Amino acid sequence: MTMLISPSRTTTGPLRTIDLDAVAANTRFFAARVTGELMAVVKADGYGHGAADVARTALANGATRLGVTSIGEALALRGVGIAAPIVSWLNHAGGADFQRAVDEDIDIAVPSIEHLDAVTATRGCARVHLHLDTGMARDGCEPTGWIGLCQRAREAELGGRISVVGVMGHLGDADDPGAASNRLGLALFEWGLDVARLSGLHPSIVHLAATSATLTLPGTRFTASRIGAGLVGIDLSRTATLKAPMTLTAPIVSVRAVAIGTAVGYGHDWVAPRSTHLGLVGLGYADGLPRSSSGKAEVLVNGRRHAIVGRMSMDQFVIDLADSGAAVGDSVVVFGPGAAGEPTVEEWAEWSGTIEHEIVTRVGAGVGTRVRRSTVGGPSRVSSAA
Ligand SMILES: *Cc1c(COP(=O)(O)O)cnc(C)c1O
Repeated sequence: MTMLISPSRTTTGPLRTIDLDAVAANTRFFAARVTGELMAVVKADGYGHGAADVARTALANGATRLGVTSIGEALALRGVGIAAPIVSWLNHAGGADFQRAVDEDIDIAVPSIEHLDAVTATRGCARVHLHLDTGMARDGCEPTGWIGLCQRAREAELGGRISVVGVMGHLGDADDPGAASNRLGLALFEWGLDVARLSGLHPSIVHLAATSATLTLPGTRFTASRIGAGLVGIDLSRTATLKAPMTLTAPIVSVRAVAIGTAVGYGHDWVAPRSTHLGLVGLGYADGLPRSSSGKAEVLVNGRRHAIVGRMSMDQFVIDLADSGAAVGDSVVVFGPGAAGEPTVEEWAEWSGTIEHEIVTRVGAGVGTRVRRSTVGGPSRVSSAA
């Protein structure tokens, strides 16, 4: 659906509106492209869109599994009644609550023998995904340790302590499909899978691809794809047409007429080149709008683009309203799908010298008290629609 942003006056504060029908459409797009299952990745509060809402919407539209970074995130999803399979992949061997993960039926990704031993020590039979580093030098098991990890996992499995249900890897350069490192990563993963099977393991959930690889490297899809960015409309491979679910709005809180030569904000980076009207908005870098966007960013007010002038402050920014007649209470669209001419998350990423992921997760993080979140659309509505 196309979301209509009312240009009318509003007295509400900053608001993130999440169009769950856009998440639903993106999920269906990817569900039609994976060769096996779609695992919806909802880490970092669903990339700032609300983990539970994104998870439920994805599950109602073709996703069959969920993926998160931490056991805490997985427990939060269980806490709101989400019963679908969940895997958590960044778990500290010494500190993670593996027992609760096992008790709550959360799959645990294991990158080392140390982790494996901690998981094996729990009561019950842990569901494990062995995690191989396929070219990131980050959170998977180094290939040199993989044979030992598989053998130890098989011993634990024979002892009834764990069940190895999956093998996972992650590609570091999938946004650039031609990169040789993707071929190396894929070859490593296939070797790792062989080693696991030759060790006597029978992993049925085999997952390497995330959003970009699913779109551009079909050979990496195996039995499941982990899709995070794509569900919230982000595709760095620029090969898909997705919908952006998040719209950020805030009201103009004051307007003032200023004379030519008036300097605005810290450092006086912008000086009015003519007499004009300035509008003040109560959002800043503490709300996730990067300070590095200063001097470049724009917003939409009453259907027209206006420049943000002067530096982005911690809690506020100033717009050059010229003679548009915009008034206190008018709604400022900071970003959205772009259908009405408002800036997109992609534009904000460009202005800020970063990627779209950083814009949406920052705006969605730790600002619950200042940027309210509301949703439109969603699973029930989707299932009742044609
Ligand atoms: C974040 C993450 C994903 C999701 O990647 P997207 O590109 O956002 O789809 C998949 N796998 C791992 C290991 C991740 O950390």
